Amino acid sequence: MENFETVIKGLQCVGCASGDYPTCFAQSSIGIGCKNHVAGTMVSSIGRIFLGLPKGFNRLGECDNLKLFIFENQAQHIEQCSYDKWNVPVWKYQYGNYVLVRGFMPRLNKGFLHIILDGQIGEIKCYEVTESDIDAMD
Ligand SMILES: [Zn+2]
Repeated sequence: MENFETVIKGLQCVGCASGDYPTCFAQSSIGIGCKNHVAGTMVSSIGRIFLGLPKGFNRLGECDNLKLFIFENQAQHIEQCSYDKWNVPVWKYQYGNYVLVRGFMPRLNKGFLHIILDGQIGEIKCYEVTESDIDAMD
């Protein structure tokens, strides 16, 4: 769990409104992340962000209660939250060793944000955000 702890601490629990890691930490029932995490970092004219994530994946925008889920690998992700007509991936990005996915649940009119630690980006069918896309974002 040591490696996961570093990941959760750095990508998810940083800037959490529930307090610093590990005070905030409670095991999520989906994936391996923290279920208590609330993005608590406010940037003026942008709104709340997930402090640990790159541009393109850090803004909450209109989705005020957007949750971030972290999966250990592709197998866990497929078992717990596979992509289909209910969970539609929109953007994917290779972020170091991890795969980030931003998507939409049309039936619920809600967004989602996933990190697959040992993910295979080629297995996810949607637009792949490039380095230059990220660089061009404000
Ligand atoms: Zn947390």
